[in-house]
Amino acid sequence: MNVPLLDLKAQYRVIKAEVLSAMEAVCDEQGFVLGPRVSAFEESTAQYVGSRYAIGCASGSDALLLSLMAMGVKAGDEVITVPFTFFATAGAISRLGAKPVFVDIQPDTFNIDPKLIEQAITPRTKAIMPVHLFGQCADMAAINAIAKRKKIYVIEDACQAIGAGQQGVRAGVLGDTGCFSFFPTKNLGGFGDGGLIATNDKALADSMSMLRVHGSQVRYLHEAIGINSRLDALQAAVLQIKLKYLDQWTEGRRRNADRYQQLFARTKHTDRVTLPPTVPGNFHVYNQFTVRVPKRDELRTFLKEKGIGTEVYYPLPMHLQQCYRDLGHRKGSFPLSEQAAEEVMSIPIYAELTEAQQAYVVEMIAEFYQRA
Ligand SMILES: *Cc1c(COP(=O)(O)O)cnc(C)c1O
Repeated sequence: MNVPLLDLKAQYRVIKAEVLSAMEAVCDEQGFVLGPRVSAFEESTAQYVGSRYAIGCASGSDALLLSLMAMGVKAGDEVITVPFTFFATAGAISRLGAKPVFVDIQPDTFNIDPKLIEQAITPRTKAIMPVHLFGQCADMAAINAIAKRKKIYVIEDACQAIGAGQQGVRAGVLGDTGCFSFFPTKNLGGFGDGGLIATNDKALADSMSMLRVHGSQVRYLHEAIGINSRLDALQAAVLQIKLKYLDQWTEGRRRNADRYQQLFARTKHTDRVTLPPTVPGNFHVYNQFTVRVPKRDELRTFLKEKGIGTEVYYPLPMHLQQCYRDLGHRKGSFPLSEQAAEEVMSIPIYAELTEAQQAYVVEMIAEFYQRA
């Protein structure tokens, strides 16, 4: 049996006619950058997330960058985040000459440990950037309490978490800004790169709208040095259609996660597999279903031979990356992030996955441990 990690073609088959007709309409209009289709999608997304404002941009990476720029983060400033994340989180901070100050994760959720934040704050700290890794929100109540006391901003890296929630509030409005990515493998994926920032703060929204078009509100007059980071009309047209299906796809992912819990619970020889927990009050959207396993790399090779796709998100924490040598960290600096990097493996979770495919994945993992 073949079980890819992600099957975007299965999703596309269902929406193909609708998407192609929307794309054709954009081609007929010949308006490709920003414009009414982008505004309409921004409005729909703001409504979906529950934010007052939504600003489309070129990628999730730029959503993070624009947030930091609007908050005035500059060279010499510090921003707190995790080492166990995709590079873009830390990269956005460094792009502005600011310093990513790393804080280790909680071993169960893989998200920032709020208990370690306060000791990392200095007079130069401008913001905390928690990541809702794999589709589950970080402990935002604890993070916001610290940020409020210290008068610093909170930027949610919600790139993997559109539709996720905490205590009934959706990711994107749990901090000062919420950053989303429409990279094709995210839960709401476009046909290329795309991103969006949600916020309830009018001043930040105005600033980000201006910064994404070279710092200009009135054409050819520039009040700030911005960047070129806009959402394309073609992407907006595709995303507008896909947004209608998002909740249905999320439910599929959540059903599959429940099924894995049941399948693993009743399959022998899988007790060394640690399954991802959902914290009470959290609504997990499972951009990834990530387990911890012993002998991970051997297991992945075995599963590959059996036709099962897996991936390691992420194999090397940020503090050990070559580009961050100058920060002076070493192996052992953030032990829980390092351990996660050595043990994690993501297995197929997309909505169209069948029960038979899931049973096969679990069976093959059991077969590996029975021998190993
Ligand atoms: C995907 C992702 C990003 C960056 O998004 P792009 O749209 O690829 O630039 C940032 N942070 C996290 C956690 C991500 O998963």
